[in-house]
Amino acid sequence: MLDFIYQAFAARIVFGSGKVSEIAAEVDRLGGKSALVISTGSQRAVADAAIERLGGNFAVRIDGAVMHVPRADVNDAVALARRQGCDSVVAIGGGSAIGLAKGIALDTGLPVIAVPSTYAGSEMTDIWGISEGDGKVTGRAPVVVPKCVIYDPDLTRDLPARLAGPSGINAIAHSVEALYAQNRNPVLSMIAEEGIRALASGLPAVCAGSAGDEERGRAVYGAFMCGLALATATMGIHHKLCHVVGGTFGLPHAETHTIVLPHATHYNRDAAPEAMAAVARALGADSAAGGLFDLALRIGAPTALRDLGLEEENLDRAADIATAAPYYNPQPVDRDGVRRLLDDAFHGRRPGSDA
Ligand code: NAD
Repeated sequence: MLDFIYQAFAARIVFGSGKVSEIAAEVDRLGGKSALVISTGSQRAVADAAIERLGGNFAVRIDGAVMHVPRADVNDAVALARRQGCDSVVAIGGGSAIGLAKGIALDTGLPVIAVPSTYAGSEMTDIWGISEGDGKVTGRAPVVVPKCVIYDPDLTRDLPARLAGPSGINAIAHSVEALYAQNRNPVLSMIAEEGIRALASGLPAVCAGSAGDEERGRAVYGAFMCGLALATATMGIHHKLCHVVGGTFGLPHAETHTIVLPHATHYNRDAAPEAMAAVARALGADSAAGGLFDLALRIGAPTALRDLGLEEENLDRAADIATAAPYYNPQPVDRDGVRRLLDDAFHGRRPGSDA
């Protein structure tokens, strides 16, 4: 019997090639008369064009948003926005630009228009994160959810394979965990499966540098779906492990997710058969975990933690930390199982192989 809660965030999505030209119209639609425009380095030219179209509705810009949203940057941006009397924020770029916009929204309540240029998915969520000292403070707040998201696949035209591959599989990881989440429901599952299918069908051509509008669009559409899945699903062993291993040993975020995902999926294979079937179906593969591993290989993404500079002697500590506190996962989390999982991920073995 169907019995579930599906929570959605109201947002307006404008999707299509060339839609960055709608930024000014969307600011106007929100009643914005004085926009702050944030961009990452790679999106400077897009920001230039948007500013020109904004005309008198443009107030001030911030170029070069950096990773992990430093508290000092948020404070500076909030002060700037207040000084200039800004009434809206446009963020053009990846998770870093959108993260800074969310930080501003958290402090000021200003509405955000997000224009993502990677597959990270932050634009669809109510999750914010700000770095303070050695750590990152995160939370959820409805005020940081962008009022409008403009997905323009053209922005990913120059996304290099070394960023596109891990960014895409990181997005897929959100959908894989949504499929076996504690709060899974039919709507979430439909969105998650669609996200995996679309990204997996677009990414190979994107990473090979042979993508046309069709493949680029499919990958960005998949990122939209995976972001939607992340917005409401509770996460399991995969995210716990990536957080612990990546955070403790300073490994790159998206690459760590890319490597761990097939192994975390394999760990849950018997406890979440419906999720496994959905992932395999979406990938057109015989098995969920094997299909995810093969996708990473095919797009030239990393498959072994040792290649990220992790030392083998740290695996015991990683397993200890990852199993110290209980959390929901379809397959009960035990230390020996997690240690084996990490060993496979460290050496880059294909899940299910005896090598
Ligand atoms: P990012 O914005 O730092 O981009 C990574 C790199 O790619 C940067 O050097 C950037 O300049 C470059 N880049 C971005 N778009 C490009 C393009 N189209 N062409 C060429 N280069 C381009 O990071 P990200 O990978 O987009 O996102 C990761 C960050 O987002 C992490 O800090 C993560 O914690 C956060 N995140 C937050 C949420 C959330 O819900 N709050 C969700 C997912 C990720």
